[in-house]
Amino acid sequence: MSETIVDWQSHSDDDGILWLTLDKQDTDTNVLSISVLEQLDSLLDEINNNPPTAIIFRSGKAKGFIAGADINEFLEVTSTQEALIMIKRGQTLFSRIESLPCPTVALIEGFCMGGGTELALACDYRVALDDAGTRIGLPEVKLGIHPAYGGLVRATSMINPLQSLEIMLSGRALTASAARAIGLVDKAQPKRQIERAARNVALAPPDRQSMPFIGKVLSLPGIRNLLAGYMKKQVAKKAPRQHYPAPYAILDVWASFYGNDKRMMEEEANSVARLIQGSKVRSLIRVFFLQTRLKGLGDKKAFNPSHVHIIGAGTMGGDIAAWCALRGFNVTLQDREAKYLSNAFKRAHQLFGKRLKTTRERNAALDRLIPDIDGDGVTRADVVIEAIFEDIDAKHAIYKDIEPRMKPGAVLATNTSSIPLETLATVLKEPDRLVGIHFFNPVAMMPLVEIVRTASSSEETVQQAIAFTQHIGKLPLPVKSSPGFLVNRILMPYLVEAFTLYDEGVAPEAIDKAATDFGMPMGPVELADTVGLDICQSVAQNLSAAYGIGLPEALNRFVNSKQLGKKSGRGFYNYDKGKPVKDKDADLGDQKMIQNRLVFRLLNEAAACLKEGIVTDKDLLDAGIIFGTGFAPFRGGPMHHSLQEGVESLVAAMSDYETKFGERFHPAEGWSLVTE
Ligand code: NAD
Repeated sequence: MSETIVDWQSHSDDDGILWLTLDKQDTDTNVLSISVLEQLDSLLDEINNNPPTAIIFRSGKAKGFIAGADINEFLEVTSTQEALIMIKRGQTLFSRIESLPCPTVALIEGFCMGGGTELALACDYRVALDDAGTRIGLPEVKLGIHPAYGGLVRATSMINPLQSLEIMLSGRALTASAARAIGLVDKAQPKRQIERAARNVALAPPDRQSMPFIGKVLSLPGIRNLLAGYMKKQVAKKAPRQHYPAPYAILDVWASFYGNDKRMMEEEANSVARLIQGSKVRSLIRVFFLQTRLKGLGDKKAFNPSHVHIIGAGTMGGDIAAWCALRGFNVTLQDREAKYLSNAFKRAHQLFGKRLKTTRERNAALDRLIPDIDGDGVTRADVVIEAIFEDIDAKHAIYKDIEPRMKPGAVLATNTSSIPLETLATVLKEPDRLVGIHFFNPVAMMPLVEIVRTASSSEETVQQAIAFTQHIGKLPLPVKSSPGFLVNRILMPYLVEAFTLYDEGVAPEAIDKAATDFGMPMGPVELADTVGLDICQSVAQNLSAAYGIGLPEALNRFVNSKQLGKKSGRGFYNYDKGKPVKDKDADLGDQKMIQNRLVFRLLNEAAACLKEGIVTDKDLLDAGIIFGTGFAPFRGGPMHHSLQEGVESLVAAMSDYETKFGERFHPAEGWSLVTE
């Protein structure tokens, strides 16, 4: 049956080129839904009957070519068979594009992801807009799958496998010029030339991209297996197979079937049909939607700050300043004396070196970061962030000094981890203007920022803080002011349980393994060493006072003997060139029990936070813990994981642990809310 064409516009120009423009109705973003693909299928029927001189695919949207497949439709798939039918339909369609009798060109402006890139790969040529907004990638692995519409076959047959596999394994998106450099696109052109370039390619087709010689060698059977084996080892360092099967599946399909396109195409489909059925994919899709929700909070356009003033150039203030300058803000950085600024500038230099490509960009970022011992920037700043050390009197003195000098309407924020905002605000004439903008360490790595509000915070200020966080490319999580906010509060009982296990004689290696096997990015003992045991101790003391969390001896012992973790070269582990020295033969003990003790504490605290309304709902809680701690993304967050496991059985198991290990495992009151 022929589809009604509503999402594609076709237009033939004087040269006989057919321009096929995708402009999916009722949305700002093009996605390849089943309907969009069926409409294209109908169009191809007509095209095959009456082929044009050439076809150029393009987007009718202001932003972006195609964002990928419609992820919502994945969630509706209920069996492997159904998945296979859906995938094969896409594969057949893209193969039809590939075998069209006329030249085909994908004109890529803005993002081009997943299925969009697969469509582009099925075309004979790809011409991409060379600007800051264009990003081309195959990020399916982030959702626990891999390209399925022939993208795996086409990418690895055209591009050196070291590069094609790397972009699929990492999910990393490339700029137009980077895509050009590896042969993923044929031309990268500026705006004023892009249409002409696409037209020229369509009318006078050049030689098509083909695999470079080195790529052919690396794809030879014996070498291919060796390379796949090596790459699997690299992947295993970051993503264990039992939790993240997709990257291994990419390597398996390539290693086993490369060279036989038909068979490889079938296996590409079978592999994704198998992967898509697992709960991991659903959880990872959930994480994607949670991230989208956080990115959509607030109204970025309603607040357009350009100048940030930061007071305190230590670990946090220095890195926040560098991050803001990296993101294009003018930043004035204040500390007590010039000597305290030098480290911050050194680290900023490193960050710009890593993140910015050209010397011009790096110099521009450095120019935006201005030392300001006298604090003159306060009067010009749209956002002032106080990040001096954790001392109420010192912070009060700062606020008294700066409040009268700040611009009306500017945001006053603190990065405090442990002093109640209500206490800090007592010296302000307008206490409602203080908000918490709580970054995590290391600032450049951690995507989440907690936006802390008190009962009397002004709504306008909170919204401005959220908008500012969006402007600097971080994910804002609105939280209620209470000790530990959300992330530290939930993390601390888990860390404390790790220290308790250590005190009981369990090897740190055993504790960390139980956590990483669960899916945490780093074990709690190594995490504590990395954060710094003095900082852990101070957060633990603060939370212990508020919630009666017992403080294990181990932590105090290490801090008292100045073994502060990684930064002092010794903590729970000894450090050699910044790496923990772990005992490979350590006794791993009862891993299930260790894992349960760690995880139960974390989940139970999460339920308590839900009850207390630290965040407004379960999804925000999951988002906060995933993006604030790296909590096993394939488990979808503590709330989602608990529901998957079954709240009733989880609570029963906790009660059992309460009998065995003590009152701290008593199920929190919030559990009844988790199932609502
Ligand atoms: P830090 O000790 O590394 O740096 C504090 C800086 O503030 C020092 O450079 C100090 O010279 C400066 N300072 C002190 N008094 C000052 C004053 N009157 N005027 C100007 N500068 C002054 O501390 P940090 O770890 O960066 O912590 C800063 C804040 O961030 C604290 O409120 C802390 O709770 C919070 N925080 C820390 C972390 C972390 O992991 N370190 C994480 C999140 C939040």
